[in-house]
Order: sequence, then structure tokens, then C-alpha cells
Amino acid sequence: MATKEKIGYFYLAFAAGLFSVIVAFIVIMGWYTDNRNLKSIMEGYTTMKFNTALCLLFLGKSLCLRSVFKNQDYRFITNICTALAAVVGILTLLEFLGSVISIDQVFIEDKTAVKNNAFPGRMSLITAVCILTTCISFLFAISQKKLLVLISQYLLHCVSFTSFTVIVGYLFKVPTLYDFSITTPMALHTAICFFILTIGASLLNPNKGITGIFTGNKIGNIMARRLFIRMATAMVIISYLNLFMEKYKVFNMGAGSAIFSVAVVLISLLFIWETSKNLNQLEQKRQLISDRLNLIFEAMPNALVMADNKGKIILVNRATEEMFGYKRTELLGQALEILLPENLRAGHPAKIKGFFNKPFTRHYSSEANLWASRKNNEEFPIELGLTPVKTEEGIIALATVIDITQRKTNEKIIQEQVRELKIKNQEMEQFNYIASHDLQEPLRTVANYIMLLEEDFPVNEEITMHLASMKQATTRMSRLIRTLLDYGLLGRNKSLTSTNLNSLVTEVIADLNNLIKSTGAVINVETLPEINCYETEIRQLFQNLINNAIKFRKKDVQPILNIGYKKVNDIHEFYVSDNGIGINPRHYQTIFNIFQRLNRQEDYEGYGVGLANCKKIVEIHGGKIWVESVHGEGSIFKFTINNFTL
Ligand code: ADP
Repeated sequence: MATKEKIGYFYLAFAAGLFSVIVAFIVIMGWYTDNRNLKSIMEGYTTMKFNTALCLLFLGKSLCLRSVFKNQDYRFITNICTALAAVVGILTLLEFLGSVISIDQVFIEDKTAVKNNAFPGRMSLITAVCILTTCISFLFAISQKKLLVLISQYLLHCVSFTSFTVIVGYLFKVPTLYDFSITTPMALHTAICFFILTIGASLLNPNKGITGIFTGNKIGNIMARRLFIRMATAMVIISYLNLFMEKYKVFNMGAGSAIFSVAVVLISLLFIWETSKNLNQLEQKRQLISDRLNLIFEAMPNALVMADNKGKIILVNRATEEMFGYKRTELLGQALEILLPENLRAGHPAKIKGFFNKPFTRHYSSEANLWASRKNNEEFPIELGLTPVKTEEGIIALATVIDITQRKTNEKIIQEQVRELKIKNQEMEQFNYIASHDLQEPLRTVANYIMLLEEDFPVNEEITMHLASMKQATTRMSRLIRTLLDYGLLGRNKSLTSTNLNSLVTEVIADLNNLIKSTGAVINVETLPEINCYETEIRQLFQNLINNAIKFRKKDVQPILNIGYKKVNDIHEFYVSDNGIGINPRHYQTIFNIFQRLNRQEDYEGYGVGLANCKKIVEIHGGKIWVESVHGEGSIFKFTINNFTL
């Protein structure tokens, strides 16, 4: 039962205790002030005796404290209260048995002359028994032993039933029901107090005894509550009508009883009919849910196998038949080991035992290296989920099996490809290095011979010009090879650091000071973030973009650059814009390829590697780079950088 509900019941118990305390207190006041109306509910009704009020006060207080406080100090006070009530009850009972110790008027004198009351101030015998029973049940209720708690609950029910009988007796004016023909009557308000007090006390153990039938939230409890309230109300109304008719002689005795019986049978039938209709509807809903669950179970793409705690298969779905190659009938009732490779079968029962000893959900991924076996003895790798399921027959295991043969094969292929790629990469790097390095050698030789020719041989003007062109070409070739080498090495020794991009861009601008001054360029920089990135590479990126933005300026126009940033869904997007010559949309893609240039060397110097480097740098940051430009009106280079965690 939910704790919230339990707390609700505790408050009800407290209210019941408080009710008893208030009524008892009023009666005690009535005795001290000798006010007849306070002692009995109405003129002519039996008074609640002083001792009874005292006991109800103690018992009510005990219940209030028990329902709210749980610690030992209060337990002691509650026990004292219960014990005091018990002493009064026992002494009164002993008096009935002929004891000479009189407790009846110890606290106050009973001057009320009541018919048949031979003992002034003495409570009714039924009251004394009820007090004692309630006291015993209160003491048992706090026991650690379940049986005593249960007995306590049934004792409370006995008192509730007795007091209810008395209340009905008063309602129908049947004296036998409130004096049981053996003693003085129990007062009406005493009966009401006992009824409320004991029902309240029984709520402290809401799951136990008859209370348990009414308090739970299961369908049976809901039905019981509904049926009981309706039946009880209907019975009281019918009985009252019967009484009324008898009193005014509408029918004679026999006819009245007959009509009464017919009415009871009819109303019972009505309630039973309604209840059974509700139950049938619920059963229908349950069946519908169960059918749906079965459909889902069957339609699942994973093999689902249910087994009992002995490891016997009790349910499988269609995917199991397909995966393992068995028919359903061949699997049901078999040991789970049938689905395992031969060499794993012997150790499996111990594993089943382990699961049922500690039944919690487990998941074994592909790394657990689990294997299963098909009917044709073909073994295959699996991923496995185990879930304990509560059923009427106890806990059973639900195994979810996924055949990961294909995944494993794919993993192997990918691993093999990655290995090959790594080797190819190494080879490429080696080739790149050797090629660039070895290519420099003949170039140096050519350059040396040019120098020799210039120094040692008399050359005319034309030859000098050719030699200068050759020298220029070899220098350029040497630069190209170095550029290629640098491109190959880019990002090799990268290291991730938290970098303040504002400081970084300021430093880059300072490095380009000569160019900026000579061109009169203006650079506006928005506030940039601090991000985790490969700092050296990002520095090169900004340097290339700023350098290009100034380099590809329009003649006689002051270069104006804007550098900015925005964050889009956890991704940093930057831009570097200029008012330069712009780029034809045809070349948006090609300019990022190595050695791609759109302008003549004479107009704009360069090797066509700057943007290829930028692309490589952005890609190692998990981002992309692109250009937006209106030809002749400047360009905006944009790039994104993923937010790495250090
Ligand atoms: P390089 O600057 O050495 O020529 P890049 O790879 O940096 O090589 O640039 C490739 C080409 O893209 C350049 O030759 C140029 O035509 C074009 N380009 C790059 N940046 C700009 C820019 N900001 N404005 C106009 N054109 C540009």
C-alpha cells in the first residue's frame, strides 16, 4: 500500500481517538457538574458512567498518540494510558464476579437513580468486556509478532461488531441488542465511541483482518467497499420501513416479514447483478490487455524466451523459432540449455540459480561474448537481456536474445578496413615525406648549377634572363613542395586546450601588423567565445582567412573586415567577412581544394593551399567551412567548430 494512503489512514485513526477523547471529556464534565444531558445523549437514555468515560478518555488518548508518534517515549505514555483503562475494566469485571474492591464510585458518586441499576456508578458488563478487549488489542497491536497483531485486529473487530449491535438496538428500540439480556444497557454514546475508536484503531494496520478487505486498491477491495456501503444502507432503510409498517399496522406481522425477505433478496440480487457486470467488464478489459501484450510479444523482432526457476522454457515467440530453427512445440517444456552450445550447457544451471537468487534486470552486451546454438548446431554470437517477471506462480525469467552475427561480421570488416586505412595512411605520410624531401635534392642541384653558370661562365643578357626565370621556377617548386609537406603534416601533433579566441585573434592581427598598416585595413572583431580546440591549428585558420580577406581586396578600396560568432545548437559558428573582390559562385567548392587558385600569380601572390589548410583544420574540429559571396562585393567565409569536452 502506498505510504500516502497509509498516512491518510493514520489521520483517520487520530480523528477517531480525538472523537473518543472529546465525548469522554464532555461526559466527565457532565458528572462533575451533575448535568444529566451531558451524561446521556437524551433525556431517558442510559448515562455513560464516569469510569467508562475515564476509560474512553485513556483509550482515545492512547490511539491519538499511537497514530501520530512512533518513538519510544510516546509508546510508554500510550501503554500507561491503555494500562490505566485496563485496570478500571478488570476491577469492574471482578466486581461482577463478586469482588469486594469497589471502583464504581471511587472517583465520583452516582446519584442517578436508574431503573434496574442495582450498582450505582457501575458500567455495563458489556462495556467492561469491551474496554478490556480494546486494551488487550491495543497492547497486542504494538507487538513484533505478526500473529499477535492479527489477533489484536480481530479483537478490535469484535468490539466494533458488539458496539454496532448496540447502536442498531437503539435505532430499532430492541433492548436485547443493547443489554444482551444479561446486564444493564451499554449507553448509546458509549457504543458510538467504541465503534469509531475500534474502527480507527484497526486502520493503524490497514492491511490486516477485515479492514484489509476495505482499504486496499485492488479490484476486490474497491468492490467490497462499494458493496458493503450500499448493502448496509439498503438494509437499514428496508428494516426501518418494515418497522414503520409494523408500527402503523400497514401489514400484519407475517406479511411484513415476507415483504421484508422479498425486498432483501431483490436488493441483494440487484447489487450482485451490478457487481458481476462490473467484474465482467474488468475481466474483458484485462483480456484485451493480455491479448495486446501477446500480440506485442509475438511481433517483437528479438527472440523472447520465458523460463521458470528450474530453467524450463514456458513461452517463446515467433522470432525465437526463426532464430533458433526449432518449432515452438519442440522448445516448450525443454531445459534452456537446448539453446546453448554444447560446451556451455553443464555450467548453465548454476547461472540460472544465481539469477533467481538475485532476480534483477541484467544486460549482456556484445562485449560479454555470449554464444547460442541453433537446431543445426550452428553457434552464433548474441546480446542478452534478462528480466525477472512476477507471476502468480512466482518469479520467472524473461530472456531477450539478439542475434549479433551480422553486427560482428560488420565490426570485423570495419576493423579490417580501419587497419588497412591506417597502413595506407602511414604509407602515404611516408611517401609524402620522402617525395617532398627527395624532390628538394634535384632542385637544389639545378639551383647550384644555375649559380655556377652565373658565376663561372660569361653569359649574355638573354641567357641571364633565362637563368633568372629558371631560378624563380626552382624556388617556387621548392616552396610548393614544402607547402605540400606542411599540408600533409597539418594536425599531426594537435593538442586540445581551452582557448580564448578573442586573445588569439588579437595576436593574429598583431602578427599581420605590417600588412594591415600598408593596406590601411580596418578589422572589427565581435566578442568571441572561449572554446576547447586545437589552438595552433585554429590560429593558422584565422591567420589564413584574415590574410586572404586583405590580400584579395579591391584596388583603391580600403579593406574592411568583420569577424564574428554565434552559437547554434551547441555548435560554434564563426565568420570572417570582407569587402574585397568576391568569388564567383562557380568556385565556391573548388577554392578549398589544394593548389586551386582563381587569380594570376602576378595579380595576387600565393600557392593555393591556404583554404585547403583551413578546410582540413575545420574538419579535424568536426566542423565544416563554406563561403558566401556576391561576386565583386566581398566574401563571407563561415565555419563551424564542435564543442569538444576536455
Ligand atoms: P592562395 O591565397 O594562396 O591563392 P587560397 O587557398 O588561400 O590560396 O585561396 C584559394 C583561392 O580562393 C584564391 O586564389 C582566391 O582566388 C580565392 N580566395 C580566397 N580567399 C578569398 C577572398 N577573401 N576573397 C576573394 N577570393 C578569395
